[in-house]
Amino acid sequence: MSGRILIVGFGPGSEKHITFRAKEAISESDCVLGYKTYVDLIKDLLTDQEIISTGMSEEVSRAQAAVKLAESGRKVAVISSGDAGVYGMAGLVYEVLVEKGWTAENGIEVEVVPGISAINSCAALLGAPIMHDACTISLSDHLTPWEIIARRLEAAGMADFVVALYNPKSGRRTRQIKEAQRILLKYRSPGTPVGLVKSGYRERQQIVMTTLGDMLNHEIGMLTTVIIGNSSTFFHGKKMITPRGYQRKYTLSAEEQPLKLHERLREENEPWALHGGEKEPNPVNKEKATSLEIALEALERLGGSEIQTAAGAERLAMPHQEKILELAVSPGVDKKKFTSKQMMLLGEIAGDTGELEYTPHHQIILRIPAESPEDIQERLESEGFLLSPIGNVVTVKACDFCDGDKKDSIPYALEIQRKLGGLQVPKELYIGFNGCGMACYGAVNEDIGIIYRQGKFDLFMGAKTVGRTAHAGQPVAEGIEPKQLVPLVESIVQEYIEKGHPNERFFKYFKRVKQIKGFVYKDMMPKIELEPAPCGD
Ligand code: SAH
Repeated sequence: MSGRILIVGFGPGSEKHITFRAKEAISESDCVLGYKTYVDLIKDLLTDQEIISTGMSEEVSRAQAAVKLAESGRKVAVISSGDAGVYGMAGLVYEVLVEKGWTAENGIEVEVVPGISAINSCAALLGAPIMHDACTISLSDHLTPWEIIARRLEAAGMADFVVALYNPKSGRRTRQIKEAQRILLKYRSPGTPVGLVKSGYRERQQIVMTTLGDMLNHEIGMLTTVIIGNSSTFFHGKKMITPRGYQRKYTLSAEEQPLKLHERLREENEPWALHGGEKEPNPVNKEKATSLEIALEALERLGGSEIQTAAGAERLAMPHQEKILELAVSPGVDKKKFTSKQMMLLGEIAGDTGELEYTPHHQIILRIPAESPEDIQERLESEGFLLSPIGNVVTVKACDFCDGDKKDSIPYALEIQRKLGGLQVPKELYIGFNGCGMACYGAVNEDIGIIYRQGKFDLFMGAKTVGRTAHAGQPVAEGIEPKQLVPLVESIVQEYIEKGHPNERFFKYFKRVKQIKGFVYKDMMPKIELEPAPCGD
């Protein structure tokens, strides 16, 4: 008769989160060993197994008992919450076996059945706080010297790991969590998001979102896992999220946000990588570098890093997180000519690392690594540039009014720009404004088209500006009195802001609601059948 030991992690505590193999292993066994509370959590899975439940602190004797029973021919399941290999029973059982001269080849059969550890189950309840490099640190100094735990906290803080603290606090151990907070605050701001999960996926589950500075004002106990974000973790409503990458971007007057996923994948957006943000050189020409040279170069590229000597130890300060400022520049709503000085200033500001992209919207988009926009904004404005935020905002696109010859309507274009330009809208919105009936800058092809003709304005709405079924807008009004124009356009845009769905283009909104400010939607699309051709096809 040969015995077996099954070391089973049963997950956080609810039956739905136990793996199939864990259930199987428990039902295959004829004897179950575990801490009383854990045996209770899985009692519905038990049939006729003998139960040997013990106290929390009897882990070593539990492991010894398991080995003895297996040696006498029994199939023993040793249960741990979460994963048995994470501060669980797996290591202890192997240690007892190794002491007895056990080998995998000749000894009794051992199977470790993996389970969902608290770091994973608690993260799922909080949102997606792990996502990036993370570590678990147990604050229990029962079997580990505090000095080692403190060093690991220092290292994790310094290296910007997301940290999951296990065994954060017990009735007797109350100082450790305070020390952990103190150490991490050396490297992370007090506003760093922190999630506290108590009894995740168990009956008395409790979830608290707090910050590194404030976390001690909430209940933390033996059943809590504390997840501390890295320097880019953020809260979104009741969710805690760590982005997959580091770089963040922002535009004028808007909040900073992570780069979109497709943007992050570009090599030039990874200035910190070993390739330094440049395309890999042709492998044939690639010079050979030793790993030391590569490591030194990487260290050098971590812009803000410094080696500091503090308390006799060398510390690497957290490298600075790069932010990219994105904004659109143009010579003006009614001007289409850049001066040489303006071009030189753009070149100077973009430098070697920035980007200048020309667009179909009478603007150049400037993307530059920059900490604060004020200085750059001031320099550009003093050279006469018109600056606009980019994204889902209102952009006014006017003609050049025949180089100023037909200038009568310019003040209206400027007023619309002043009142609406840069306003956040459900989806990018272009207002075309042309100074005469020739409309040679194509105002009728924009979301909202305005044409000045014989002292009055014509209004067009509902152009489908993109796609193979693109079409011009419908004329909704002719001969609008100048003084009525700006309030009318404002009220149209205001309604779209209030009632448009997120990402709903203006023409789609018009089609959905059928009427805006009394203007009734007409389908302008000629009936042609076309295969759908999504982007990329
Ligand atoms: N083997 C377990 C960890 C045991 S150490 C695992 O992999 O999850 C005990 C610690 O785990 C507790 O102090 C707590 O920090 C964490 N923990 C375990 N189960 C938990 C749960 N359901 N909810 C929150 N934290 C839990």
